[in-house]
Amino acid sequence: MLYAQVVLPLAQPIYTFSLDEALAVEVGDAVVVQFGSSRFYTGLVWGISTEKPDYPRLKPILKKLYSHPILGEREQRLWEWIADYYMCTLGEVMRLALPSLAKPSATSFVELVERAIEPPTESFIALSEELQSEEALAKYVEKHSRRSPRRTEIMDSIAALAHERTSDDGFVPRRLVDATSQQLSALRSKALIRTELRPRERITENNANNFLLPTLSEAQTRALGEIREAHNGGKVALLHGVTGSGKTEIYIHLIAEELSKGRDVMVLVPEIVITSQLIERLERIFEGRTTTYHSRLTPIRRGHTFLRLAASTGGELIVGVRSAIFLPMRNPGLIVVDEEHDPGYKQSDMQPRYNARDCAVLLSHLDGVRVVLGSATPSLESYLNAISGKYQYVELKERWGKGVLPEVIVSDTIRSVKRGERKVHFNFDLLRNIERSLSSQEQVILFQNRRGYAPYIQCSTCGYSPRCPHCNVTLTQHKATSRMECHYCGFTMERPTVCPNCQVQDIKTMGFGTEKVEEEVTRLFPDARVERLDGDTTSSESAFKRIVHRFEEKETDILVGTQILTKGFDFEGVTTVGILNADNLLSAPDFRAAERAYQLIMQVAGRAGRHNDRGRVVIQTSQPQHPVIKYVAMGDYHSMARVELAERKAFGYPPYSHLVRFMLRSKDYELLRHAAHSFAMVMRKKFGDRVMGPVSAALEMLRGEHRAEILLKIESGASMKRARVLMHEALDQMAQDKRFKSITITTDVDCW
Ligand code: ADP
Ligand code: ZN
Repeated sequence: MLYAQVVLPLAQPIYTFSLDEALAVEVGDAVVVQFGSSRFYTGLVWGISTEKPDYPRLKPILKKLYSHPILGEREQRLWEWIADYYMCTLGEVMRLALPSLAKPSATSFVELVERAIEPPTESFIALSEELQSEEALAKYVEKHSRRSPRRTEIMDSIAALAHERTSDDGFVPRRLVDATSQQLSALRSKALIRTELRPRERITENNANNFLLPTLSEAQTRALGEIREAHNGGKVALLHGVTGSGKTEIYIHLIAEELSKGRDVMVLVPEIVITSQLIERLERIFEGRTTTYHSRLTPIRRGHTFLRLAASTGGELIVGVRSAIFLPMRNPGLIVVDEEHDPGYKQSDMQPRYNARDCAVLLSHLDGVRVVLGSATPSLESYLNAISGKYQYVELKERWGKGVLPEVIVSDTIRSVKRGERKVHFNFDLLRNIERSLSSQEQVILFQNRRGYAPYIQCSTCGYSPRCPHCNVTLTQHKATSRMECHYCGFTMERPTVCPNCQVQDIKTMGFGTEKVEEEVTRLFPDARVERLDGDTTSSESAFKRIVHRFEEKETDILVGTQILTKGFDFEGVTTVGILNADNLLSAPDFRAAERAYQLIMQVAGRAGRHNDRGRVVIQTSQPQHPVIKYVAMGDYHSMARVELAERKAFGYPPYSHLVRFMLRSKDYELLRHAAHSFAMVMRKKFGDRVMGPVSAALEMLRGEHRAEILLKIESGASMKRARVLMHEALDQMAQDKRFKSITITTDVDCW
């Protein structure tokens, strides 16, 4: 008899089951076990031994799922690191890492379904049957080449490729045809070409020209060389390239090289819809190899993807959001983390509270995978690692081709008001530039980091503002729905006309969100076509795509939006970018406020003038002398980073320390206070003045629960391992205290 240690998708320790040798189970296999009295789960075999544990009654492993192990050695080590570092159980990692379809559970054994695995395919193109002969094609080209030169050129190239590759039936891989999807679908609709999905071609180093790669500029070639050098030396590369410098082109070259060697590549992006342009380019070049992975996929797709990759032998390109880091790579070659500074890489709302970027870096140590972190505004964590020599620092200072960085205009809001040079929320500086763009048929982007109409309303007589009864934050006014809405829990109520507190009818809207900006700009520029891109207008992916598409096609002149606007987009026609209020970025109550403000402003600014030299960014602020604004205006990342790092060092904040947040929650306010103080005392005994708090959390109340937090700073260089032991001790002590049974404590290592 054998004994298997099995991880179950529960917040539980590893359990041991007896294992019949006849089942031929290996480590990494998914198996079915019964746990509790009436439930069957998928478990993962973590280890197998011959030694009988001294529990009286062991339950057996009932069945092996899938013909091959779904977890490799590499994934096991990654999961273990995550569970250890982020202080959760392997079961919690499993719950997140393994799509539900791949880990079926059921109340009866027979209901548990095992999924089949689909073989990978790629699309192939051939000319229509009538045009297969050389004569027929020549005739067609002769007749049409004057009126549709591009079309005949593409058809010619398909024929040439088929000839070159001695394709029997004229079919060639789509990835080798230099044409956009629109061009191809036009050809298809005229029945000039046929497309088919076929088993994908094996890529090898020897069949040259596997992919259509962009030609790199001199600066890009140099950067690529530096990245390769870093990788040869076993180092992570930090690619710091200004927006529009062509980081994507460099990624493409690196990806092609790995795929040609039969190795897997993973490209992590912060948000999938926002990076649709990047994904389209990768899908076109790496047709048939690209697998996208994100939360909007159906559970079935996600499950199939996981299982297919687990069975793959390498040469896969995975493009996905943070959770893609858990996908199996059987022959790992490269991980690219694009926009590595983005907070979206950190999961904060549930365990495991991991950072996918940091997991990628871990994997470079664990299995030698090459890692590139790319950003126009690197996180200070990565920047410090780069300047201290831990990572290789690679810089691209110029935009590709003729692109130059936009001119930055800092517009003083207070002065504008004094001089009467402001209409509603627009300084004349901004209005002038909008006018200039519109009169030359160019486009405008306006950024405001709040959605809704007004972030709060207030009674002018007594000062009362309606708040969310569950979260105690002010309610945002939404004009489209004429309701007040809580942006944390979604609670809504009607907008009061009379103050509920003093009964006077004098409630004013305070501050402004994107909805109001849209309304005002529509009034100021009645001829302009205005649209809004934010969480309210993009509840579905298709709505999002429609708005972006209309802007790309220049059917819209002005696009008003939130953070969503800041990433990835490449809009040709934009010459003015307006940042309506930089103040609320600068004054966020967060030690990262300055860094985040710099990143956000630079990212929005990066949307201007990407294809010409007329880009302008107008930043409205009441603090034109603020260092962040000054560095933004000069585009001086290095000075911003130097000053900010000095500040972080002085206060012992990351990247000079690891910050751990303990969040305590309870419906009972008094008990929560009591527990928070007790816990802080326990922690202080162990960590001394590295412990801060307890304080009320930034959101004191959320969904009806009171929240208090305690922060722990562990200076770089101190042992995290030892710290974790002490933290576990403190948490255990709290868990054993009967008084605090109803208190929930969550732990967030390297919190945001
Ligand atoms: P980044 O990701 O650094 O902001 P992109 O990779 O999006 O920059 O490139 C910006 C623009 O410049 C894109 O439109 C891209 O097609 C173009 N570009 C950059 N490098 C090249 C190149 N080597 N060949 C062709 N086009 C390029
Ligand atoms: Zn709420």
